[in-house]
Amino acid sequence: MVDETRQPVGPLDGQQIPRFAGFSTFARLPRREDVERADVAVVGVPFDAGTSYRPGARFGPSAVREASRLLRPYNPSLDVSPFAGVQVVDWGDVACNPFDIAEAISQIEAGLGAVLADGARYVVVGGDHTVALPSLRALAAQHGPLAIVHFDAHLDTWDTYFGAPFTHGTPFRRAREEGLLLDGHLAHVGLRGSLYARQDLIDDEQMGFTAVHCREMDTLGVDAALERILARVGSAPLYVSIDVDVLDPAHAPGTGTPEAGGLTSRELLALVRGLRAANLVGADVVEVSPAYDHAEITAVAAANVAYELVSLLALGLGAGPGPGLGATA
Ligand code: MN
Ligand code: MN
Repeated sequence: MVDETRQPVGPLDGQQIPRFAGFSTFARLPRREDVERADVAVVGVPFDAGTSYRPGARFGPSAVREASRLLRPYNPSLDVSPFAGVQVVDWGDVACNPFDIAEAISQIEAGLGAVLADGARYVVVGGDHTVALPSLRALAAQHGPLAIVHFDAHLDTWDTYFGAPFTHGTPFRRAREEGLLLDGHLAHVGLRGSLYARQDLIDDEQMGFTAVHCREMDTLGVDAALERILARVGSAPLYVSIDVDVLDPAHAPGTGTPEAGGLTSRELLALVRGLRAANLVGADVVEVSPAYDHAEITAVAAANVAYELVSLLALGLGAGPGPGLGATA
């Protein structure tokens, strides 16, 4: 919560140190060890052993940090200075086993549990979508079952792949089986592309998900889509999971499982900002795979989406429009 007696440490001042200079932390924020407390943490999870197609999302966190240098301290779209009222930090990365998925999931759950135990809310930067499962476990241990808004071209409620139960295509089925999800409060946004069978959609619906398919965005538009999403999640504790492949490959070429016909980055940012009316408690941005990126298109989009999520968490903790730290920076 906002504490008037203890001003947070903000990002490096762009008037003193140019934005392209110095070590990369998210938005040039302090690291956890540099400050006395953390209210909101950006946490890297460099794990991609759950990937089914193009690998490389293990390099996502460092690419997003590098692309986040231009993020400034005032967010005009949400009228908030997210780094001024509350202490936002770059937590660093959760180290996890690149060869053993089950062990990695345990390590990620423990690592994110430590962030929560420190009193912070988090935005995870992946990593492949497998990391959503341990993230949901850690948060559900604190809040109970969670509402979900899941931005993705894909359902990610499949059962197994090559017999493997824990992959980037299965986190939400496993989460539901484990009782981490709040029935009746689950939504996919941005679904598209070919499937294995029509049954995939039927199974998913029976798991209690509603969906805004990408094709519907043409007729619904952002505002009507948001209405449907917000009606679904209500005021329940909300987790937002953003697979960057929800964006069209023109807006996010650097990802592992690209599908034609996706959202624009403008639509995604507007949809995320529209969740201000909901009760966000945690989030992830996953599947940035920089080896397939061009001109940092994907990493810049992911950095900006993460900034909106941090802004929403800061608003929820009482942050206001400022005065922003380094307001001229
Ligand atoms: Mn996907
Ligand atoms: Mn996904």
